Amino acid sequence: MIIMMPAHLSARQEQTWVDTMLARLEAAEVRRRPSDEELMDRARDLAEKYLPKTVRIGSVQWSDQQGRRWGSCTVDSADIRISTRLRGMPRWVIDYVLVHELAHTIFKGHHEQFWALVSSFPHTERARGFLAGVDYAQRHGLDKEPLDAEQPEDECSPVMNPATE
Ligand SMILES: [Zn+2]
Repeated sequence: MIIMMPAHLSARQEQTWVDTMLARLEAAEVRRRPSDEELMDRARDLAEKYLPKTVRIGSVQWSDQQGRRWGSCTVDSADIRISTRLRGMPRWVIDYVLVHELAHTIFKGHHEQFWALVSSFPHTERARGFLAGVDYAQRHGLDKEPLDAEQPEDECSPVMNPATE
C-alpha cells in the first residue's frame, strides 16, 4: 500500500499517520467482507428460511480460487465456496449466491426445478441481473473507466415547458 503524506512531517508523525490509515483500512475491510463465520451463519439462516429440509451444509467459506465463478458447491460434501469478487457487493447479492449454491445440494443441474427452488429467495432475479451487469462491465473493462468527476445529470429530469400564453 502507498500512503501519500506531506514531506514536512517528522518520523513520529509519519508513523502515527500510517498507523491511523492502516487501522481505518482494516475497519473498512472488515465491514466490506463478512468473515467465514458470518458467511456460515448467513447460509444457515437462508437455508432455514428459503430451502426445504433436505438442504445440506458442509463448510461455507470465502475463496479467491473461483475464477469467473461467483461460487461453487461440492455436492457430495456440501462444501460451499463464495468468490471474494463478491466482497463489497450488496448483502442480497451475496445471499442470492449462497442460496444458489445451497440449492445445488438438492439439485445438481440448472434445470427448471432448480430455478424454482432458488426463486423462493425474493431477490433472485434482481441479483442475477446485478451480477450479469458486473460481469459485463468487467469483461468490457468498463469497471476501469475513471468516474466522471462532474456531477451527473439526474437520471430523470422532467423538462418543464415554459409557460406559454
Ligand atoms: Zn449453479
